[in-house]
Amino acid sequence: MSKEVLNSLLKEYEQKKIYAELEAEKRKEELYKRIPKLQQIENELNSFALLTTKNILSNQTVSLDELYKKIELLKQKKETILRENGISSKDLKPHYECSICKDTGYVSQENLDTKMCNCLKQKLLDVSFDKSNLSNLNKENFDTFNENLFSDEVDLAKFRFNISPRENIRNIKQKCREFIENFDLPGTKNLLFTGNTGLR
Ligand SMILES: [Zn+2]
Repeated sequence: MSKEVLNSLLKEYEQKKIYAELEAEKRKEELYKRIPKLQQIENELNSFALLTTKNILSNQTVSLDELYKKIELLKQKKETILRENGISSKDLKPHYECSICKDTGYVSQENLDTKMCNCLKQKLLDVSFDKSNLSNLNKENFDTFNENLFSDEVDLAKFRFNISPRENIRNIKQKCREFIENFDLPGTKNLLFTGNTGLR
């Protein structure tokens, strides 16, 4: 997988993330305009958060408990107002396409390492799938395979085969089916297609 593909996907992810967060911000703003009390609580929460940080930095641990209690109370107030208006706090959060990685493409593990999220892995697979023409599978598959396109006349001089092209393509189709059916068996060998440019 080329680096450019990953980079362009990551750019897409960044935009998706920014969009989801801006949209959530807008939703919140509109809600706060409608219910000013929520804005007031938010302001208080912000100033308490600042105060808490200041207290931690200056080691004034005594009043911290008091602050936490006030913050908790404000949060409860906020929850109540939201509930009364039929809104859950989830409704205020950004609507990411992938809630697992929050549209970053990566997730943190317990050992603090990051690993690629399944959604990004899937996107990478989709890109290689498209590039390999395999995405046409719903149109081009064994069921839609038309062997009548191949002549049923043996032409030894032209094809140097004592069977007709139709018989030949039927054999190839059979081999391909066997290959697919036995794909997971350890003894199964690869298939190699050779021919002129454009062979698929
Ligand atoms: Zn994800």
